[in-house]
Amino acid sequence: MATDVKKLIIIGSGPSGYTAALYAARANLSPVVYAGYQHGGQLTLTTDVENFPGFPEGIQGPELMSNMRAQAERFGAELRDRDVTAVDFSQRPFRVTTHVKPFSAEDDEIEQAYAVIVATGASAMWLGIPGEEQYRGYGVSSCATCDGFFFRNKRMVVVGGGDVALEEAIFLSRFASELTVVHRRDTLRASKAMQQRALNNPKIRFMWDTVVEEALGEKHPQTGVARVTGVRVRNVKTGEESVLPTDALFVAIGHRPNTHIFHGQIPLDERGYAVAQDAEGTATAVEGVFVAGDVRDYRYRQAVTAAADGCKAAMDVEKWLEERGEADVDPTGEVYAGLMHEPATEPAVEPATELAIKIGASQA
Ligand code: NAP
Repeated sequence: MATDVKKLIIIGSGPSGYTAALYAARANLSPVVYAGYQHGGQLTLTTDVENFPGFPEGIQGPELMSNMRAQAERFGAELRDRDVTAVDFSQRPFRVTTHVKPFSAEDDEIEQAYAVIVATGASAMWLGIPGEEQYRGYGVSSCATCDGFFFRNKRMVVVGGGDVALEEAIFLSRFASELTVVHRRDTLRASKAMQQRALNNPKIRFMWDTVVEEALGEKHPQTGVARVTGVRVRNVKTGEESVLPTDALFVAIGHRPNTHIFHGQIPLDERGYAVAQDAEGTATAVEGVFVAGDVRDYRYRQAVTAAADGCKAAMDVEKWLEERGEADVDPTGEVYAGLMHEPATEPAVEPATELAIKIGASQA
């Protein structure tokens, strides 16, 4: 177990975690980042990223994440590829327990810090069907905003009946040659307003009571690049199966915030998303714990919005530490020990004159 107390621990290694690390490191907060055994977040599952500013030719998702990591490390952030398995925010300093590998009994580590940024992101829910993982990034996607552009004038299928599925379908209808929403029931879950917009969109066709059972694809004979060619679907009422040709499959059946270790530690909403005290800021109701990125944002969920949130969280932490003394101190020093407790009613140290007399006495 570590004996010193860190100023800041960041949990998570997506755009929000790495950006928080970059800003915190440059603010001299010497952040420790628990990046996870499989670090890099959702962008490591994508291929081309064309909407992150600063890359006119686009960049590969994994490359963008390793660049962000290197940039944070360059300024002194300490990256640890360990999974956080438990946190204790009930008292300060906060305690964070980590494992080097999931399901491994070896090497538990407990680290302590005065501030924590939770940037663990969210995970898209997938259908769990054959072909889905194989063609992810090659036609199978969970982000229309990110990947719709690659399928201009192509056929598309969207799975889901919620607000996100319809929002994505409406967005994609600008690019698609044909677009089918496949929904497992005959009524939509989405809000009435969204339903109206989607149902009135002449480009969008609905396939009701239908589930997608397989993503079909092939490899280009010359280049070897994989692509989606269709989906195998089944009508749940009639049992009838068919193949729906498509070039892209957008799965929009919901996201799950990665908050299971924070239950009972910070406020979560009814969907499990972390809740900040106000919409603009990143502080939670637990003083010293901040949240950033997709773990608290079900609406935008973009790399650039997550990165912006990470920046805000680091700045909020810096200000919070500064308000309590000084952010730029040796994290192992004693200055922080006094900062995190209520001011004592009696002076903690004896008056200087008495102290001087005692020192003099002992030296005699
Ligand atoms: P959601 O509301 O939970 O909808 C998920 C949809 O996916 C449902 O239609 C569900 O079908 C379907 N689904 C779930 N698992 C499935 C599976 N294994 N196979 C096939 N279909 C499956 O999630 P969301 O659309 O991502 O929205 C998340 C939240 O954000 C919601 O509260 C939503 O209202 C909100 N939001 C609001 C707006 C807006 O107001 N503008 C925009 C975006 C998001 P069933 O209907 O049969 O359960």
